[in-house]
Amino acid sequence: MRKILFIRPNFADFRSRDAMTPLAFAFLSAVTPEGVETVLVDERIEPVTHEDADLVALSVETFTARRAYEIADEYRRRGVPVVMGGHHPTLRPQEAARHCDAVVVGDGERVWPQVVRNAARGGLKPLYGASGGGRGRREDLRLKADHSIFRGKKYAPLSLVQAGRGCRFVCDFCSIHAFYGHDLRLRPVEDIVEELRTLPRNRLVFFVDDNLFSHRDYLVRLLRALVPLRLKWCCQISLDVSRDEALLDLMREAGCMLVLIGFESLERRNLVQMRKKWNGSGEYGAVVRRFHERGIMIYGTFVFGYDADTPESFDRAVEFALEANLCIANFNPLTPTPGTALYERLRKQNRLLYEKWWLDPSYRYGKAIFRPRGMTPEELEEGCMRAREIFYSHSSIFRRALRQPQIWRRPGNLKTMLLGNFISRHEIRNKQHKLLGEKASG
Ligand code: SF4
Repeated sequence: MRKILFIRPNFADFRSRDAMTPLAFAFLSAVTPEGVETVLVDERIEPVTHEDADLVALSVETFTARRAYEIADEYRRRGVPVVMGGHHPTLRPQEAARHCDAVVVGDGERVWPQVVRNAARGGLKPLYGASGGGRGRREDLRLKADHSIFRGKKYAPLSLVQAGRGCRFVCDFCSIHAFYGHDLRLRPVEDIVEELRTLPRNRLVFFVDDNLFSHRDYLVRLLRALVPLRLKWCCQISLDVSRDEALLDLMREAGCMLVLIGFESLERRNLVQMRKKWNGSGEYGAVVRRFHERGIMIYGTFVFGYDADTPESFDRAVEFALEANLCIANFNPLTPTPGTALYERLRKQNRLLYEKWWLDPSYRYGKAIFRPRGMTPEELEEGCMRAREIFYSHSSIFRRALRQPQIWRRPGNLKTMLLGNFISRHEIRNKQHKLLGEKASG
């Protein structure tokens, strides 16, 4: 075994300006046996040229499955063995197995050395690995990341780091439990600090955990360890953290610059339906104020298509996002991902417009995937697009920048805000209505 090619497919024919480093490959590269060369091709930023390799490993999400299968089929036609891992193959292993020699289910790095050894002697097994399965909280996640595989590539200027895996909530649209199991696995804080010390100091760190607020004691220890490093960072976090003012103070002191928060809906009945009642839509204004008072910007996400949504829901959400001066916001149609309670519910109710939308050649990115109750599928699609256009209009971007005093107080915030808005504005148009799997060109 001389060379392994890691491929991160794109979902359609375009290049991204906001691509982030695919961290899973840094974990695989770090545990690849010595003497084996690892090369990364990320189709979001460069073309797949079908260069030679002894083994190809693809990381596959549901949106990229169709394109991943095309790439895999071509490599296998050339006699190169292919391994697939990531969310989609974990949730649909039998489907993925039709296009590869081995499927890795769950955490890839745990079984990767064995996969490479087996491939080297021509003995790949069809299936590797299994997700956690417990229900506890363990601080035993040992990860090493080889960030050098990203060197020289045009990624968003962020350093991605993972502190833990899993989430203590169970929102019905989220596939995290299907992927990681029900337990929470956390890295020892000292391992994270050691990794952070190796990263460029001038870059914003992004904790990619689906919810950094996994456990209060752990978060406190992590934040205290971050203070002396004097880094700037952002994270995804559940909004209940804002009910703890001492934690918010510590987040600010530790260098938190921006938080991504899933507001999801302003409608209480929707939050109940999605099992996110704890979000408490009545408190959203106070949540925003508590972060903003500390100079922490907010990237808010909203989803549409739950049963209490109507065509008026879009205007309400965008009004809130503007009024609250959110730094960035997403307005997305609800996406039923296989492996989620939501997908099963809609399938049983016979409301899916495309049962396997990720493989369906008539589905286009941004289209409604199911029949909502309170509007037509077209209204769902158009309402999301209208909300984005209002939020990312030039006048809205400049008004929000000027109206946020906390942006001026903290160095770097304004630049991040403007950059984030103009890139989002471009990417929304870039992605809309793309056919999944359409061959990407250079
Ligand atoms: S809080 Fe976030 S990560 Fe956790 S289950 Fe809900 S959507 Fe998923």
